[in-house]
Amino acid sequence: TQRFIWPMAQFGQIINMYQRARASSERIFGLMDEPSKLEEDADAPDLVVEEGEVVYDGVTFGYDEEPIVRDVDFAVEGGETLALVGPTGAGKSTVLKLLLRMYDVDEGSIRIDGQDVGEVTLRSLRRSIGYVGQSSYLFYGTVRENITYGAFDATDEEVREAAKAAEAHAFIENLPDGYDTMVGERGVKLSGGQRQRVTIARAVLKDPDVLVLDEATSDVDTETEMLIQRSIDRLTADRTTFAIAHRLSTIRDADTILVLEDGEVVERGSHDDLLENGGLYAHLWGVQAGEIDELPQEFIDRAQE
Ligand code: ADP
Repeated sequence: TQRFIWPMAQFGQIINMYQRARASSERIFGLMDEPSKLEEDADAPDLVVEEGEVVYDGVTFGYDEEPIVRDVDFAVEGGETLALVGPTGAGKSTVLKLLLRMYDVDEGSIRIDGQDVGEVTLRSLRRSIGYVGQSSYLFYGTVRENITYGAFDATDEEVREAAKAAEAHAFIENLPDGYDTMVGERGVKLSGGQRQRVTIARAVLKDPDVLVLDEATSDVDTETEMLIQRSIDRLTADRTTFAIAHRLSTIRDADTILVLEDGEVVERGSHDDLLENGGLYAHLWGVQAGEIDELPQEFIDRAQE
């Protein structure tokens, strides 16, 4: 299918707003592996995921007194994909930080297969959730170590299978020392698209119950982009997935799209529902598809309030 990119030139303000969104999610998800300062009950049970159903029930949260996420309700069935769309500062990343329990909700609850994320061990929660996105990084080590990160008992065969699923096996084999090639800071320089596929291989190997996907918008050629998309499709199939979308074309098949504005869900539904709805989503889509020249002023004003 045809994929669109933002029509940059005509779209200064909105572009800027989405770029800032991206920068902020990088900062957030860089924290993914840091130990949390949150309280955990000494006898808290581990999270046990079977279906992978995720429910947000009247979730309200603020970093200080001001609520940033307001009364957010939704349910994602196991294996489905929920996409979050909306301007910078709308609260998309915050919604996902709460799933990872980087912060506790002020009101409401978040449950995975009926278990409140605040009542299970953080270790089991973080182990169950995988992240693929802009800030997935490679450390100085071999390609193999970068793929097995978090799954240290993986066999060579499993690593190769994961790399194949991520469309990374072929280029890895062509590196000077194959899977033993040193990459990262001081190692062999990989292209953005290659780095991305190594991190996808890492996620394939981790095989998390729930996946958080922060769509990358790196400058890769069309063929690489196709490979990346194909490997992501494989990764998200039959797995509960949350996607923060920057290009709407990549999430048009999501089971549910939530449009957030100022911490609240303002539109929800499938791509077709939302087009019919004629709101913010429909206008953003129209712009990306080149059907309308620019976003009506009212939406820009609203985004900047
Ligand atoms: P989005 O992902 O939609 O761009 P965010 O969830 O990143 O939105 O941000 C929502 C709001 O919360 C913004 O106003 C942002 O400035 C604020 N915010 C994000 N992170 C923090 C933080 N760690 N402390 C205080 N405010 C924050």
